[in-house]
Amino acid sequence: MTSANHRPIAVITGASSGIGAATAVALHEAGYSVVLGARRTDRLREVAEPLGGLALHLDVTDRTSVEAFAGRIPEAAVLVNNAGGALGADSVERADDERWRTMWETNVLGTVRLTRALLPVLEASSGGHVVNVGSIAGFETYAGGGGYTAAKHAVRALTKTLRLELLGRPVRVTEICPGLVETEFSLVRFAGDREKAKAVYHGMDPLTAGDVADCVAWVVTRPPRVNIDEIVVRPRDQATATAVWRGR
Ligand code: NAP
Repeated sequence: MTSANHRPIAVITGASSGIGAATAVALHEAGYSVVLGARRTDRLREVAEPLGGLALHLDVTDRTSVEAFAGRIPEAAVLVNNAGGALGADSVERADDERWRTMWETNVLGTVRLTRALLPVLEASSGGHVVNVGSIAGFETYAGGGGYTAAKHAVRALTKTLRLELLGRPVRVTEICPGLVETEFSLVRFAGDREKAKAVYHGMDPLTAGDVADCVAWVVTRPPRVNIDEIVVRPRDQATATAVWRGR
């Protein structure tokens, strides 16, 4: 459960930007040694180096990559399944198979693969914890969001299933469900279109990646008997996925 410097190890997927990168900093500050995974290893190293963390290439859509990643992690206390995101805003009637498949592969199967691969080491630690970064898209829907909301609904279902399946075993399970957070999320969703991405946060004050990282750090630092099942965290300016006050 501890690294050579006696800090417990936290593994964070999708740590090359946004919420994952901020979570790496927050968990380092909370006393963890961090192991970070993502595809952009240059960006990952920039996050890991100042923290003395380990940056490892990881593509959560690729089983071989997940197995190689997990093979480098003989011990861990925390797994943050954060890698994910949305692609496009297709209506159901115009759904693009490839985009929908990638969203499913990344958000859903990625979470399954990492959890399956690391559960043995989490369980072997004196108190393991799986934190899944879901979304309010896991229990709300919006027009044009079908591919993403379907995937995050699935993340929610599998998180609740895992909680049941691990009952009586020393592994906690938490879902963090953020509303609008200003990261690279919208830039990725709209294939690099900066204007479209900026418009998502226009006139309102979104969460920062650090706000969500604070939630992750808080849940993992509760006493081992305490399982925070879920946290829903939104900007004050957002009441639902579609009710957003843009008067700023
Ligand atoms: P982001 O800045 O785009 O970060 C996404 C991260 O996921 C990146 O580090 C990316 O790294 C990684 N990733 C994507 N595909 C991957 C793959 N196949 N294998 C490994 N890593 C992969 O966006 P973010 O907002 O921080 O998103 C983090 C999580 O929060 C996602 O699950 C997202 O659905 C969720 N979320 C975001 C918001 C929001 O408004 N931003 C709201 C609710 C929930 P590489 O590209 O380097 O692989």
